[in-house]
Amino acid sequence: MRSLLIQGGRIIDPGRKLDEAGSLLIAGGKISWVGRGKETPPDANYDVLDAQGLIVCPGFIDLHCHLRQPGFEGRETIATGTGAAARGGFTTVGCMPNTEPPLDNKNTVDFVKATAASEGAVRVLPIGCISRGRTGEELADMGALVKAGVIGFSDDGDPVPNSKLMRRALEYSCFCHLPIIDHCEDKDLSKGGQMNEGEISAGLMLAGIPNAAEDIIVARDLALAELTGGWIHIAHVSTEGSVELIRLAKAKGVRVTAEATPHHLTLTEERVKSHGASAKVNPPLRTERDIKALIQGLNDNTIDIIATDHAPHTEAEKSQQFELAPFGISGFETAFGSLMGLVHRGELGLATLIAKLTIEPSKILGQKYGLGTLAAGSPADVTIFDPELEWTVDIKEFASKGKNTPLAGDKLKGRVMATIYGGKVVYRDEAIK
Ligand SMILES: [Zn+2]
Repeated sequence: MRSLLIQGGRIIDPGRKLDEAGSLLIAGGKISWVGRGKETPPDANYDVLDAQGLIVCPGFIDLHCHLRQPGFEGRETIATGTGAAARGGFTTVGCMPNTEPPLDNKNTVDFVKATAASEGAVRVLPIGCISRGRTGEELADMGALVKAGVIGFSDDGDPVPNSKLMRRALEYSCFCHLPIIDHCEDKDLSKGGQMNEGEISAGLMLAGIPNAAEDIIVARDLALAELTGGWIHIAHVSTEGSVELIRLAKAKGVRVTAEATPHHLTLTEERVKSHGASAKVNPPLRTERDIKALIQGLNDNTIDIIATDHAPHTEAEKSQQFELAPFGISGFETAFGSLMGLVHRGELGLATLIAKLTIEPSKILGQKYGLGTLAAGSPADVTIFDPELEWTVDIKEFASKGKNTPLAGDKLKGRVMATIYGGKVVYRDEAIK
């Protein structure tokens, strides 16, 4: 592979507090040289990617997505999902284990890793199940899963209803130093629920899911993390109450990290009125008040990272009547554009947004991966974007099999122009020379 010089961009690398004009040389799959201003590299034998007017940052890391393989290849495969991730600027994705069979044993994890290595466009890091078969009854063989190389444990799609089992999982996290990632939902309270509980659900005559369904399990998990000293990671935080609980727990020194999704940060329950089942997601889209709390949580580091919860479904599944349609939004390809809305509205700094997609998730992965930075010697995972470019979301352009987005037809400002994974250009917009 020839070396590649990314020339003339504005380099933003929040992990090193770097924001300046410069160029990057990529050789042998690594960042080999970083130059300031108009400096050129010592070795003159390279191809050039012109990043004039663009921002160059570490490749995005998404620690929560659903690639659907094995078992649900009609919705997505590792090949199509990672292709969509590359289009979205993601060079590393953590995939959830609610496949069929689920990732509760070494063989299935090995299958995902092997498929990703041969067919994937970007790095895939599997997450293992907390419970065997995701039934919530007994712990999976977590030791075997650690050996297989999982980056955390989750029964995502479902919570862990049994507090004793959650306690055991958190105790184990003290030894393996990996997060226990919970989808916080009190299933008795949310049962039958279709969307956020409030005036809109009442008006649409749809059963609601109250904020309390999330807050209750967040509170329980934080209490168990405090009891055990284990590491709880709260997936897709959607409520003001959860943000407050996590903030208090962090202040007390509880080992907790948390994520929010682009859709919970930018869309309200109103979308269900205008977009029907494509806005049906779990946890549900909430209210302006919740969004405000989530953004505040990002800004004061109560919420550590942004993760997409990319959840592709087939058109047949999503076009059923609302009550029968599954929960989930196909998120990779709109994530960055919609998040840039927060920056353009002055609600989030650009460097903060990039940090929440790069160095912060890298911290959760730990040192051994060495991702989320453009320091010389790091893996050459790079995302290049135009912060000002306006574009219209066209689901026909999606690489994902899942066209289920409530953003179809929306205008977004800010677009990924190229994605480089391990030194290889895995996505390049036509406009890039
Ligand atoms: Zn979930």
